[in-house]
Amino acid sequence: MHDDRELIEARLRRVLDERIRPAIYPESVPLEVSVWNAPDEPVPVAEGLAATPEPIEVGRLWGAPWGTSWFTVSGTVPAEWAGRTVEAILDLGFDENKPGFQCEGLVYRPDGTPVKGLNPRNQWVRVGSPVEGGEEVRLHIEAASNPVILDYHPFLPTNMGEKETAGTDPLYLLTRMDLAVFDETVWQLVMDLEVLGELMHELPADGARRWELLRALGRALDAVDLQDVGGTAAAARAELAGVLSTPAVPSAHRISAVGHAHIDSAWLWPLRETVRKVARTTSNMTALLEDEPEFIFAMSQAQQWAWVKEHRPEVWAKVTKAVATGRFVPAGGMWVESDTNMPGSEAMARQFVHGKRFFIDEFGVDNEEVWLPDTFGFAAGLPQIIKAAGSKRLLTQKISWSQTNTFPHHTFLWEGIDGTRIFTHFPPVDTYNCSMQGRELAHAARNFKDKGVARHSLAPTGWGDGGGGTTREMVAKAARVRDLEGSPAVTWETPAEFFAKAEAEYRNPPVWTGELYLELHRATLTSQAKTKQGNRHSEALLREAELWAATAAVRAGAAYPYAELDRLWKTVLLHQFHDILPGSSIAWVHREARRTYEVVAGELNAIIDAAQRALAGDPSGGTLVFNGAPHARHGVPAGGATRPALPRATDARAREGGGYVLEDGAVRVEIDGRGLVVSAYDLTAGRETVAPGRAANLLQIHPDFPNKWDAWDVDEFYRNTVTDLTEADEVGLEDGTVVVRRSFGASSVTQRLTLSEGRLEIGTEVDWHETEKFLKLAFPFDVHADRYASESQYGHSYRATHTNTSWEAAKFEACNHRFVHVAEPGWGVAVVNDSTYGHDVTRTVEDGGTVTTLRVSLLRAPRFPDPETDQGVHVFRHALVPGAEIGDAVREGWSINQPERRVPGDAEVEPLVAVDDDAVVVTAVKLADDESGDVIVRFHESRGGRARATLRAGFPVAEVVTTDLLERPTGEPRRPEEALSLALKPFELVTLRLKRA
Ligand SMILES: [Zn+2]
Repeated sequence: MHDDRELIEARLRRVLDERIRPAIYPESVPLEVSVWNAPDEPVPVAEGLAATPEPIEVGRLWGAPWGTSWFTVSGTVPAEWAGRTVEAILDLGFDENKPGFQCEGLVYRPDGTPVKGLNPRNQWVRVGSPVEGGEEVRLHIEAASNPVILDYHPFLPTNMGEKETAGTDPLYLLTRMDLAVFDETVWQLVMDLEVLGELMHELPADGARRWELLRALGRALDAVDLQDVGGTAAAARAELAGVLSTPAVPSAHRISAVGHAHIDSAWLWPLRETVRKVARTTSNMTALLEDEPEFIFAMSQAQQWAWVKEHRPEVWAKVTKAVATGRFVPAGGMWVESDTNMPGSEAMARQFVHGKRFFIDEFGVDNEEVWLPDTFGFAAGLPQIIKAAGSKRLLTQKISWSQTNTFPHHTFLWEGIDGTRIFTHFPPVDTYNCSMQGRELAHAARNFKDKGVARHSLAPTGWGDGGGGTTREMVAKAARVRDLEGSPAVTWETPAEFFAKAEAEYRNPPVWTGELYLELHRATLTSQAKTKQGNRHSEALLREAELWAATAAVRAGAAYPYAELDRLWKTVLLHQFHDILPGSSIAWVHREARRTYEVVAGELNAIIDAAQRALAGDPSGGTLVFNGAPHARHGVPAGGATRPALPRATDARAREGGGYVLEDGAVRVEIDGRGLVVSAYDLTAGRETVAPGRAANLLQIHPDFPNKWDAWDVDEFYRNTVTDLTEADEVGLEDGTVVVRRSFGASSVTQRLTLSEGRLEIGTEVDWHETEKFLKLAFPFDVHADRYASESQYGHSYRATHTNTSWEAAKFEACNHRFVHVAEPGWGVAVVNDSTYGHDVTRTVEDGGTVTTLRVSLLRAPRFPDPETDQGVHVFRHALVPGAEIGDAVREGWSINQPERRVPGDAEVEPLVAVDDDAVVVTAVKLADDESGDVIVRFHESRGGRARATLRAGFPVAEVVTTDLLERPTGEPRRPEEALSLALKPFELVTLRLKRA
């Protein structure tokens, strides 16, 4: 037979595009349109509905950037359409390639009932099926003219990311506002042709099935009269019925489709817009669930549910009704889909506490699945936290974005730092925006790494990022590939249903130990420094607020601020969302975040002040030092207050050859005439810290213009060009502190170096006015080490200092919490910080010695999506700790993040709880969230070894019970004598509930 394959394929494309798709709506009449533009920010629904609109014609521009326009459309269904299906087509100026990134709308009836959301892939509202003819139609559209930030030429700097700089020129062309006849048979024919055509292209050209599809499609096109598509569509469908009913082969890959709309809680739009995006999407999805009985939709991020409940009660009513059917499913159990690299131990835990509690309280749903499709890498401390929250499974697809290495499994056990293993699935479809295209389904089946032993994968299906969700077209396509030869078999299922099948079929899955490092988006550890500082400082203040408020409640009968702490925690948790804390949002989001963190700090400091005043006794009786860190310091116990002890004296003197020498009996530091640390000599160990001939505290600046994703990415080639900032404007001594001033480019920096009790504190104040540059602070150590430790949640993990394999080479920028530690047997050194996360560690061999260089990442200056990223003044605090063992690194890391507080008073405060082994670190002391008055204590082994310790309660305890993170008992209540004698395994995390006697 002659080969006419490409001829028929081209015919299908043209006939679909030019004749069949346009015939879905064969007749239409225009609606009358009027519009009222809200003067500034969005208004309540009732106000939008009550406003008086002015007429506007289709073909006119509307919508200033970030504006809200309330459209009213009205018309009458023509009498001659009686018996037909009629829809309103409402095209606000949509570009179908930009769902979620463009203008959007929510359609209401005149009584304020939400109907459904409008977006580029969802422009219709059903009027009636069948209509009688003569019906009056009146709808209102709350339309948001959100500007496009990520355009066809992506990553160009834009002023659209901030309302004040975005201008007022209207952005969108009102394109179509019609009533139209919807020809369902033609629409079904389009679905048939798309599914079979897409499948055909995925099949081997030498296989019979491909040709069967080609021949059937050819016959169907023959059956279509191009002048009467509607009249011949049924005949064309009949030609396809045979190939559509051939069942899937027995070994076909099985896909659990989960309806989804991954909505970023803020990103290229501000938080307030996400509230509306969620309302639009959930309105859309509740409508689709009513129309499509097989469909299942899952939505994560308790915060987004809470927004609907608080701000859109009329939408919330529909959502709760849909949840009751079991087909609108709360997914995961976190407050937001947070970053997991940077949130501290307790914050990571509280993401689960508040997320799970919301779903339990509202719906009685306690999920075992963690749903993080888009998060930029996963810290090795996470498995233990997932387990402690009562969950056991994880889903993400993000690691498929790695630039260098292909992850070897799609379904596996992920093992964290303490040995906890979590059943994990990476959807092989490699997207959270699956749209049921043949190409996507075939990719999932081909890509699935666990073929032969497992058969199931999950496909999050629906438009996400900016929202929108699943469409009726995706549901129609899924129905056709439920059991179709040549295609994976697709079924709508909940995440829990998928995981149950995947676990059952894969009894002995492979294991991946340690972090799930994303080989991309590494600069998210540094971009938007003030957002990161706000997070770190808020976490420290939350710890202190709980500790001192609990102490004041138990000791002084003070009221515990349950509601305030609950609200403040949720605010901080929201800002850990994976485009806020990582610094990848527009200027508007980060400006608001900076302001929010200031307010949070003010409120938390007020809680701390009130609690400490309640404890401190007579304010005229002298000064007390409150120690909020989990280790004793300067004679003040952890979680207690005493009178201050005198710090050890530090000697400061001029250095021969220029500069200064600082010495305190433990360490002697030499700072040269350039303001660089050329020696940090450990007097106890008799050992030098700084590599021979090198200098620490060296600021280095690199050009930093990644190929894509400016705020997200730093590409490896940035290291090829570097300028050492060795020229000092001034190096002087002020009150025992060496002060170094430098200028470079359009920027300047002042550093203050102070030696105190064996650690060199470095305060760095930068007035930053660079463009596309990366600023690092380098510490070359005379240390021979194959690996280094970075603090993570409830412990630390190791990374290689060498680059033997592509996996190790790819980790050229990584995350730490409070410390990075490098060591040889018997001696180590730590650098601790109060607010930085990004760092790199490299290894060189010079003159026969190994140099291990730690570089702290301070600042970047990307221009997308915020063109002014990080411009202005920043203050960072670091400390170099020579001779630090890992336990010292833990302690010093805490110390720099939890400064002592001096409070007037005379009543020394005994700690509420005390542990007699520094390896056991108490991360939280608080009253139980159930307001029972029980004291909650959470602690972990912090060094990676075994610990035996006794926990002493500074109040009468009736009984003790171990709990999960949600403070739910996990064991039997025990007597305090036995329960408070602790034996911990490496990095083991424990939560105890202490019932007061
Ligand atoms: Zn996202």
